[in-house]
Amino acid sequence: MVVRPIAVVTDLAVVGAGVLGLTAALWARHRHPAWTVLVLDRQQVLHGASGHSLAIAAPSGHTPRVRELALRSGQLYRSGVFREAVRDRAGLVVCRAATARALSHHLTAPVRRLPAIEPYEAGLLGELRTDAGDEVYAVGRGFLHVEVAALAAWVDIVPDWPVVSCIRTRSCWELRGPGGAVHRARRVVVAVGPWAAPEVGDRSGAAWGAGGGRVKRVAVLRVPAARATASDPLVVFPEENLLLAPADGYVEVSFLRTRWRDVPLSGDGQPGADPADQGLTDEDLAEGRSALAARGPSLAARATVGRAFWDTYYPDAEPRVTSPPGDRSLVRLDGGAGTGVRLAPALAEAAIGAVE
Ligand SMILES: Cc1cc2nc3c(=O)[nH]c(=O)nc-3n(C[C@H](O)[C@H](O)[C@H](O)COP(=O)(O)OP(=O)(O)OC[C@H]3O[C@@H](n4cnc5c(N)ncnc54)[C@H](O)[C@@H]3O)c2cc1C
Repeated sequence: MVVRPIAVVTDLAVVGAGVLGLTAALWARHRHPAWTVLVLDRQQVLHGASGHSLAIAAPSGHTPRVRELALRSGQLYRSGVFREAVRDRAGLVVCRAATARALSHHLTAPVRRLPAIEPYEAGLLGELRTDAGDEVYAVGRGFLHVEVAALAAWVDIVPDWPVVSCIRTRSCWELRGPGGAVHRARRVVVAVGPWAAPEVGDRSGAAWGAGGGRVKRVAVLRVPAARATASDPLVVFPEENLLLAPADGYVEVSFLRTRWRDVPLSGDGQPGADPADQGLTDEDLAEGRSALAARGPSLAARATVGRAFWDTYYPDAEPRVTSPPGDRSLVRLDGGAGTGVRLAPALAEAAIGAVE
């Protein structure tokens, strides 16, 4: 819900109305119903990575910590707080047996080899190429589709409020915003995605930030597919890094993008004014078509539209929950590797646990 700035000291201010900020705000309200919670965003709601996301929470992780967070996020998404914003999706994984064995160590949901794929051939799978050595596995109760816009409807958001710096006073944080405006809060969660984080310092202005992340392009193609329906399973080709999410009459295709940006985003907040906010480019399209061609040549030929944005990646592909030295009343959240939707509730739980 969009609200106007308020003059009192809030119990919690969240900087950034993406999926990480929104889940943190919702989790805070669940844990502390008496808290006042406000989300400040430099732009309109979901203008960042979360608004462009395919928003699939996959039941997997490349390290024990990420698997633990993915598992916990699945539990929290299915709990009362977020339940109405998520939909369970069945999943099929198509690959060689050796790949499936390796993958099973990264999955947090059970997989079962399907004896035959005929039942699925009338759907999207019939339009995709399976090789002689391929096997097809069903992933049990694993994937979720998250309606990120629904999360935004349940929290109080002040749009067009870019936080420039966070200054610690004796009793609270002062968040400096547009035209010298100040918002005061007892606790702060900073979740600014691929943007440069506001300066966080004491009265002498010492800067602080998580640092070390790089900004990478993430893209999704949207391809007409008459056979696809929203109740079809997702199809994952792990060897090609492809994930296909069927909807009614089309399929969304997530693929590995290889373009990096040297600096975090720093646009002036006006939609379209930031060169980062340019939608799917010819380069994105070409890379997506070429990734899709091996498994869905007819789909690749029909691909002309999609969406793309940026997200923060750390070299170890791990999420970050960090505070300035000696002060846990401010926490910065980062998804870490282009999969922030998957880990959002567990990171929100960790952030609120840190500031409470
Ligand atoms: C095309 C695409 C497909 C994706 N598919 C998936 C997927 O299927 N599954 C998955 O798990 N992940 C996916 N991701 C990644 C996932 O969407 C991101 O990791 C996640 O959305 C990041 O959320 P966030 O809240 O950190 O950032 P964002 O959504 O970018 O939100 C940050 C917010 O902070 C605001 N902000 C920035 N600076 C300031 C400031 N100084 N003051 C106030 N506000 C500020 C911005 O306006 C923005 O609204 C995808 C990403 C893209 C682009």
